[in-house]
Amino acid sequence: MEILHMGAECYPVAKVGGLADVIGSLPKYQNKVDNNVSVVIPSYQTIFRLNNNFECVYHGKLKLGNFNFPFSVQKETTNKLGFELYLVEIPELFDRPNIYNYRDDIERFLSFQIATLDWISERESVPDLIHCHDHHTGLVPFMKKYCPKYDRIKDIPTVMTIHNGLYQGIFTFNKLYYLPEFDLIHIKEIEWGNFINSLAAGIKCADIITTVSPSYLNEINHSDNGLETLFQRVRDKSRGILNGIDTEIWDPETDSMLDTNYSVNSINEGKKNNKAQLCSHFNMDPTKPLFSFIGRLYNEKGADLLPKTVVSALTTFKDQINIVILGYGDLEIENQLKQLLDVYKGNYHVHIGYDEELAHKTYASSDFILIPSRIEPCGLNQMYAMRYGTIPIVRRTGGLKDTIIDFEDNGNGICHDNASVDDICDSVQRAVNLYQNKEIFNRIRIKGMNTNHSWKYVSQEYVELYNLIIAKRYEN
Ligand code: ADP
Repeated sequence: MEILHMGAECYPVAKVGGLADVIGSLPKYQNKVDNNVSVVIPSYQTIFRLNNNFECVYHGKLKLGNFNFPFSVQKETTNKLGFELYLVEIPELFDRPNIYNYRDDIERFLSFQIATLDWISERESVPDLIHCHDHHTGLVPFMKKYCPKYDRIKDIPTVMTIHNGLYQGIFTFNKLYYLPEFDLIHIKEIEWGNFINSLAAGIKCADIITTVSPSYLNEINHSDNGLETLFQRVRDKSRGILNGIDTEIWDPETDSMLDTNYSVNSINEGKKNNKAQLCSHFNMDPTKPLFSFIGRLYNEKGADLLPKTVVSALTTFKDQINIVILGYGDLEIENQLKQLLDVYKGNYHVHIGYDEELAHKTYASSDFILIPSRIEPCGLNQMYAMRYGTIPIVRRTGGLKDTIIDFEDNGNGICHDNASVDDICDSVQRAVNLYQNKEIFNRIRIKGMNTNHSWKYVSQEYVELYNLIIAKRYEN
């Protein structure tokens, strides 16, 4: 079966968050079991792009309304990622250092989708299925189906996976002329709330919708992202499939970014050594429990609660705990966190920015990881943390609810219900107590390390889904 994954990110080529981890690992594991899986993303100005060899497999000129952009499709020559990687190179729109947050993001990602469809529709062999990820590819199922230009590929089935329903790729009908020509009788398929909504279009037009955890699927039927009634309408074609992780990259036994490698048999020594290194770097006492946060600093992640949590926890547990925060995002949150540096020197450090190596070191060194998310479609941090013997402290929501159970209910972490400083601090209090009880503390972290969230087991669920859709296509 030939599958093409389409998205905005792919680790290690271009990463902002979990989307990259999934698109960089799910295809690799699907490829291991007799599939032919490839990935296509835009070509950004990233280190991976500069340091690896690519060959041009297609040249084209895409039309976006009155604009014409020359583009090419570049294939990574070695398949070193475990799948064929294609980058759509549109220099005017993507030859920039960042992935998102440009004023012309709508034009950028629409161009990416049009260029990819132009390329696929002219390929000698076309994929059996296109797997679209998030709103950056949300218009693909529609354009493929309704734009006569893509008639040759109109019957290829599509799966649309929602990694984050908050971001929807919304724009006004003034830009309708950007889309390749189609019969206006179908215009309702791209409309939501009087706007063109890329995610809504994907949800309406894809053969199957998946969310990255079962609980998130339930939540989006009621939560306030504006699409709840649409989700209710498409319930029959929706599935919640929990994300997996790449246990080859995320393996404390072989991870080259760690100071000391370790396994479940050497967890005490291994974590102690890593923690000693990290703490010495940040001038912290390594005998104290280390709490960390790794993630995008936005309200959806509960990051707005962090400054007050740091103040409250480090006031209550004066000099008894250490906190390390790694992230970037909302400038106000960044500033508030930076202002605390001088006040809590020796017990607190914040690193503003994106640093893959520091993230790995922090998972390995921490005793507890804070994941206070308001919304968490799946969350990979808790899975990485457990793999590295770090106990997750989570708010019960989305994928966190599906993966973490409180240790007092015989589970693998510490849980609370409210997105509030009080609830987080209560959990910190329970963590401090747990840290004193070495027997239970060790039992829980070993339990985490023995939990297996590898794509090896989960990726098959998608393949079964693909088979079902493809079989249905031939029935019709
Ligand atoms: P989301 O995709 O919503 O950001 P996930 O938990 O699904 O959240 O995935 C987050 C991924 O991004 C993890 O691999 C995490 O380690 C990584 N990450 C987040 N922030 C940073 C950062 N500042 N530096 C390095 N890695 C980060």
